[in-house]
Amino acid sequence: MIYTVTLNPAIDHIIHVKDELTRGKNNHVLESYNDIGGKGTHVSVVLSCLETQNKATGFIGEQGKNELYALLRERKVIPDFFVLPNRSVRQNYVLMDETHAGSFMITHTGPTITSEEIKLFTADLVSKLAPDDLVVFAGNPSKLINANVYRSILERVKETGAQLIIDASGEYLKEAIKVTPTLIKPNQFEFAELTKKTITSIDDTIGAMENSNLPNIDYIIVSLGKEGSLLFHNNSIYRVTPPKVNTVNDTGCGDAFVGGIVYALYKKFAVKDMLTFATSVSASKAMQPTSSGFVPSEASLLREQVAFEKIK
Ligand code: ATP
Ligand code: MG
Ligand code: MG
Repeated sequence: MIYTVTLNPAIDHIIHVKDELTRGKNNHVLESYNDIGGKGTHVSVVLSCLETQNKATGFIGEQGKNELYALLRERKVIPDFFVLPNRSVRQNYVLMDETHAGSFMITHTGPTITSEEIKLFTADLVSKLAPDDLVVFAGNPSKLINANVYRSILERVKETGAQLIIDASGEYLKEAIKVTPTLIKPNQFEFAELTKKTITSIDDTIGAMENSNLPNIDYIIVSLGKEGSLLFHNNSIYRVTPPKVNTVNDTGCGDAFVGGIVYALYKKFAVKDMLTFATSVSASKAMQPTSSGFVPSEASLLREQVAFEKIK
């Protein structure tokens, strides 16, 4: 089984306004809708789109839970979250205008979670895990959970023998690598922060990796947006580059990429297939307006145009 863990999920309220979003003016709404917010849940959407059974777990506030569950079920995701009584699901606002200059994100912190609730959630998750399971922790927890607590959840999961996949940033990524997960996927900015190096190119990324003291993580993938990604695995370096696509919304491309990688790990794809597959899934995502999901038929066509190279 594949489990995705979203410790701080949200409902994203997407609001598109006419012309340029401007202070002191009535900004007219062209369109608004609610979307699934939370990186682990986005990974689940990709897996469900690929008809691969998975469970989405994490913490969820009691108020608003039904709405988020309905959004997940619409995308064929099975939600199985630890419910936080008398608290609300986190609500985020994403404002976009017709300039296509990027969105404005307005986010809440998320509900408080007691240490007892963290203990219960972890014990329940761990009790279900078997060594051939994959567990994907995607997205940071709420700032109210400190990085040591996060690491102790990961340690418990690791002890079960299940494979741990991490997509986190900052302090949380720094703590997560101490548990030696199977795979991490920082983007170039997250990797620069982790290695304390300036990264603006493929060469910088390789240099940062070679001078780092990272523990022996089986797969380290650094993603560089439309430039593609680099995989460091078994002392080799691989580079993969997506074709040029008509980018509508690149937010969530990383989550789509992780979804493709997890699928490939689960199906035991060889390295080249793993990378070209995930790259085509995320390129298809870039062409979609929503922050999760992709079009499998489009991804299959794009895959033919993905460039793959073994650098070392
Ligand atoms: P997220 O917003 O989901 O956290 P991220 O910053 O972690 O994203 P990126 O490095 O932006 O991840 O993107 C992940 C992968 O998605 C890239 O390695 C690339 O394969 C693909 N990708 C991203 N942007 C584009 C794009 N504009 N066109 C084609 N492919 C893209
Ligand atoms: Mg990015
Ligand atoms: Mg990311």
